[in-house]
Amino acid sequence: MSSPVSGNLWRNWSGLASATAHRVAAPRSAQDVVQAVDRARASGLGVKMAGSGHSFTDIAAPEHTLLRPEELSGVVEIDRAAMTVTALAGTPLKELNLSLERLGLSLHNMGDIAEQTLAGATSTGTHGTGGVAAGLSAQLAGLEMVTGTGELLRATPEENPDVLDIARVGLGALGILTSLTFRVEPLFVLEAHEEPMGWDEALARHDEVVAAAHHVDMYWFPHTDRTMVKQNVRTTLEPGEQQPPGRLAAWWEDEFLSNTVFGGLVKALDRAPRAVPAVNQVTGRALSERTYSDLAHRVFVTPRRVVFREMEYAVPREVGLDVLRECRRVIDAHDWRISFPVEVRTARPDDVPLSTAHGRETLYLAFHTAAGTDHTDYFAGIEPILRAAGGRPHWGKLHTMTAADLAGVYDRWEDFRAMRERLDPDRVFANPYLRRVLGD
Ligand SMILES: Cc1cc2nc3c(=O)[nH]c(=O)nc-3n(C[C@H](O)[C@H](O)[C@H](O)COP(=O)(O)OP(=O)(O)OC[C@H]3O[C@@H](n4cnc5c(N)ncnc54)[C@H](O)[C@@H]3O)c2cc1C
Repeated sequence: MSSPVSGNLWRNWSGLASATAHRVAAPRSAQDVVQAVDRARASGLGVKMAGSGHSFTDIAAPEHTLLRPEELSGVVEIDRAAMTVTALAGTPLKELNLSLERLGLSLHNMGDIAEQTLAGATSTGTHGTGGVAAGLSAQLAGLEMVTGTGELLRATPEENPDVLDIARVGLGALGILTSLTFRVEPLFVLEAHEEPMGWDEALARHDEVVAAAHHVDMYWFPHTDRTMVKQNVRTTLEPGEQQPPGRLAAWWEDEFLSNTVFGGLVKALDRAPRAVPAVNQVTGRALSERTYSDLAHRVFVTPRRVVFREMEYAVPREVGLDVLRECRRVIDAHDWRISFPVEVRTARPDDVPLSTAHGRETLYLAFHTAAGTDHTDYFAGIEPILRAAGGRPHWGKLHTMTAADLAGVYDRWEDFRAMRERLDPDRVFANPYLRRVLGD
């Protein structure tokens, strides 16, 4: 895992947020975490555990003590009867995926990278697309954490179920997670079909395509009529029978076109933004139709080496495509030059109180700029459309909502605040981001 911490400096992946910690420690056990929290409480100074720094916001920024995740890593328990696997909270998702693969097991669903730590990913509601549950938090069967009062607490459906209910997306505000238990499935193979589609066809057929494939991810190239629709379907192939893209084809599509050429173009376009629409036409055309199959986690995850900034909102699915059309209208009416595609994903309703997909069919709309490009006009132009639709911002991505705004889009908001009052009454885990989104 590339670490967001160097000496006392914490800096996130996109380079947009940084902070200097007064003290840095790397706990090796839950007891080490208890000691760090006791020390923070006694001194009245805060403590924050960082993940891999892949949130675009300052949600993980320490104010005083920073705990690094690296030593709290690895699978600790496999329960084949219950089909659950427990791993330490700092385990990178990609290491869990490999361990599960060796055990003949798999997560049900995940996002498009696997660099994040388990605690970081679940704490911000990280999600993929489609499936029975799109979010990682909805796949949790238990967790262990150290609360703001220094108590080591286990939460399962039998033990402290009210804590499990709420702490699955905890924003790092309720406690420091020490281990997480995921429900798992037998290892399975997905067939991926990537298909360029015109804007009108992609929107007209979106519901049909989502109904037919287990996981659908759509990319629209701004300033063009081009989209790329990725449909992943569960197959009856046994692990070992999959047909991944040849090494050359994989390198060409995933590494060369999607990272090397795209990265070079993005840098060049920063200097010549007028060329963006023409280049987007070419990029949209260069990605060709292809079909391959592979183990699920290898299909879900794509290398992302071009650094970017991102805002993503979850809007109600029934208005989602109209919201996307309105976003396109606003993009077309402005002079912005947007070199990154807009990503569209779906989620079934889940029951995690602060999950962006809580209680409703969801369409996720994600907007990006290159890391070196000022995103403010673009995101400020789009965000009101997403907010007017009752949108909920991804907790780890850029947005401007505050506690007062968020209270209106989450019906379990007060339950979360009450749990925070109970688990972290002295606000040992507070930082500027949490003060903005949770208040006091
Ligand atoms: C290239 C890229 C691709 C991405 N793709 C997706 C995607 O497909 N879907 C999606 O939903 N999101 C995606 N994200 C967002 C990302 O999944 C989230 O921002 C996630 O939180 C990052 O995890 P992390 O380990 O880097 O956590 P960090 O960003 O380091 O921390 C996030 C939060 O978790 C808290 N935390 C960390 N460890 C603990 C602990 N042990 N106990 C309690 N709290 C803890 C931190 O304090 C902080 O509040 C992507 C981000 C990037 C940069």
